[in-house]
Amino acid sequence: MTDEHSVKGNRLDPWLDNYATRAHGLRASETRSLFAVASRPEVVSLAGGMPNLKDLPLDRLAESTARMIRKDGGRALQYGNGQGLPRLREQIPDVMALEGIDADPEDIIITTGSQQAVDIVAELFIDPGDVILAEGPTYVGSLSIFATYQADVQQIEMDADGVIPDALEEAILRLEREGRRIKLFYCLPNFHNPAGATLSEERRRTVVDICHRHHILIVEDNPYGLLGFDGQTYTALKTLAPDDVVYLGSFSKIFAPGYRVGWAVAPPAVREKMKLASEAAILCPSSVGQYSISMYLEGFDWKHQIEEFRGMYHDRCDAMISALNEYMSMCTWNVPSGGFYVWVGLPDGLDAKDMLPRAVTNLVAYVSGTAFYPGGSAGHDHMRLSFCYPEPVEIHEGIRRLSDVITHDLELIDLFGPSYSRPTEGVSTPAPDQI
Ligand code: PMP
Repeated sequence: MTDEHSVKGNRLDPWLDNYATRAHGLRASETRSLFAVASRPEVVSLAGGMPNLKDLPLDRLAESTARMIRKDGGRALQYGNGQGLPRLREQIPDVMALEGIDADPEDIIITTGSQQAVDIVAELFIDPGDVILAEGPTYVGSLSIFATYQADVQQIEMDADGVIPDALEEAILRLEREGRRIKLFYCLPNFHNPAGATLSEERRRTVVDICHRHHILIVEDNPYGLLGFDGQTYTALKTLAPDDVVYLGSFSKIFAPGYRVGWAVAPPAVREKMKLASEAAILCPSSVGQYSISMYLEGFDWKHQIEEFRGMYHDRCDAMISALNEYMSMCTWNVPSGGFYVWVGLPDGLDAKDMLPRAVTNLVAYVSGTAFYPGGSAGHDHMRLSFCYPEPVEIHEGIRRLSDVITHDLELIDLFGPSYSRPTEGVSTPAPDQI
């Protein structure tokens, strides 16, 4: 502890020495201030994972919400059931059925977005130093949670077909030999954030089998599963191994994130613990949010709305891929079949994190690949581009600007040699609209 961190903390934060150890992992990402600039209208942001809500029927929603408050306001504005509104728990299996998942309303627990569900699972299972297996790269918002619980996140290599089963089993065997406690495999099987990849049907069975043999609980985080561009869906890990999987769903991408309503489906004993942990943390999920979602599922053609979203995201993805083909032949990328993201590999020597300020100066923003590895330990050679929010013409312009920045950086490398790859420390927490 330095003098600066003495009994009275320091000038900026007099409570510095009083925080719990787990709070030291929490810090804003270095790029947060940059993103304040990036949210200016002249910047094309390919950074945020914000769903595009422009096609929602806002007038009808407003009228229905007013009617709902008049009719059910006494309950919708009151505290509710800790496990979630029973009526909504009855409706959620209809949403899951679209992916062929058979869920019992009794096994569902409603959460404040799937983000809270990740938090609850980590709280229940992770002691400091316990291992969480995850794909490399993985969702930055979950990395922030895992850091808070002082988990040791071990990332497993993935390719265009998702996580590589042999790599998963090798890592498990190595960690077991080292006497480590592996608690969870956190997996994003569909339209991965940030990698855009989808786990192949064959690998799903292998992955489930490996985790079963090693008694590792799978957390299947699936907010994008209904956003396959051709309406295609895949066998859920939950369907393959109901007792070994905590499944997480969300209304954020198929309806609207502002309600903050997600859900988990867990084996009964785990569900009971999750319910108690959630009640301890928040008493109950937002009643008015749940009533609103329930009203939407009952009174609106939500399946058609999902189809519209798919079409819109498909067009935006096409716009991004065609702009990448036009301008960025020096890079590599995957072509996603759903979701929000393209994972772009940079030419040798370029560093996505280092380049970001120059990109923002050139009025385009992205998320550096480093955000998707704990402590920014890898990912310098990748960037995540989101096509969900900007209009196709903006996407085209954004990629053109990005290609200028990359070309300029490559010229600098030619002149001065590679000067990048600065190590990054600590765990950073991005602003919510970047994740
Ligand atoms: N998981 C993944 C993979 C995500 O991309 C997100 C949001 N971007 C979440 C979980 C959290 O979503 P929410 O809390 O809005 O349901």
